Amino acid sequence: MPRRVLLIDDDRMQCMLTKAHFAKFRQEKYEVDWAETYEKGLRKLLSGEYTVCLLDYQLGERDGLALIREAIAAGCHVPIIFLTAETGENIDILAMEAGALDYLIKGEITTQSLERSLRYALKLGDTMEALRQLATHDALTGLLNRREFDRILIEEHERAKRFGRSYAIVTLDLDHFKKVNDTYGHPAGDLVLKTVAKRIGQQLRSVDRFARVGGEEFAIVLTEVDFVTVSEVAKRIVEMVARMPVLLENGTKLPVTVSAGSASMPKNAADPAALIRISDKALYEAKQRGRNRAVAAVELTPAE
Ligand code: GH3
Ligand code: MG
Ligand code: MG
Repeated sequence: MPRRVLLIDDDRMQCMLTKAHFAKFRQEKYEVDWAETYEKGLRKLLSGEYTVCLLDYQLGERDGLALIREAIAAGCHVPIIFLTAETGENIDILAMEAGALDYLIKGEITTQSLERSLRYALKLGDTMEALRQLATHDALTGLLNRREFDRILIEEHERAKRFGRSYAIVTLDLDHFKKVNDTYGHPAGDLVLKTVAKRIGQQLRSVDRFARVGGEEFAIVLTEVDFVTVSEVAKRIVEMVARMPVLLENGTKLPVTVSAGSASMPKNAADPAALIRISDKALYEAKQRGRNRAVAAVELTPAE
């Protein structure tokens, strides 16, 4: 399958010239699609259908730098090569700062330089994707890490506020996990963490965001879910974990349990920090009441 390139340029002549270079490429074959306006370009860029993008600086009244920033803010990670007719004014640096991976001056483009730039941008794009994965995920379980969880929670809060929707969180902590390490060793503890994380993940919807927020602590953001549903989800997770012992390498079938707290917005809190606090309080209450159970924020007495 040829890679798909999106060419965003308001100049039809220039577009034909660029396309002519693609026809002469020696190595990789690309399928080139053209968008002639800012709006169409942005829409196509966010469609997820393109491997790489060539973007013109001047797009009618609008400017390509703004398009890069808007696309990246919307979560776009397609490698972008910036094209411009001009050389001055630090446009190259501005383009890189906005998020472009390379910069070409239109009058100086040759078939070879364009082909090379695409190869480099694709390679750099892969490297950056790998770095993004490392920066946002936990190495042991593959789940989101705490920093990414915090970011997503704020993002979800803003979205929910704007559209008047509810969302909820579940916080989870493995019970007496220290004993697992002490009895069976750290590698066995790691296996338990990985196994339980995987099983919980399988119970969630693809829109739910699941993170490892501490050593044996996890948290889930559930979108468009109210306080009743989230407490049911938390109970279901607790029951499922208790039902399925983890098979250790030495053949031991180890019973594992987890405690959970849940809280929802706007029912239980007014901002993300308060939501975490109240969910953690519910989790602490679950531990106090004997572990292996879920407690919802609404079950806490006001004094708690
Ligand atoms: P509680 O039911 O009150 O939560 O008891 P607990 O033993 O689970 O709680 P505590 O916080 O005392 O112990 C957590 C343990 O989790 C201690 C730490 O060694 C272990 N732990 C944290 N991160 C990892 C990890 O990545 N791998 C392993 N194997 N153990 C970890
Ligand atoms: Mg803990
Ligand atoms: Mg624990």
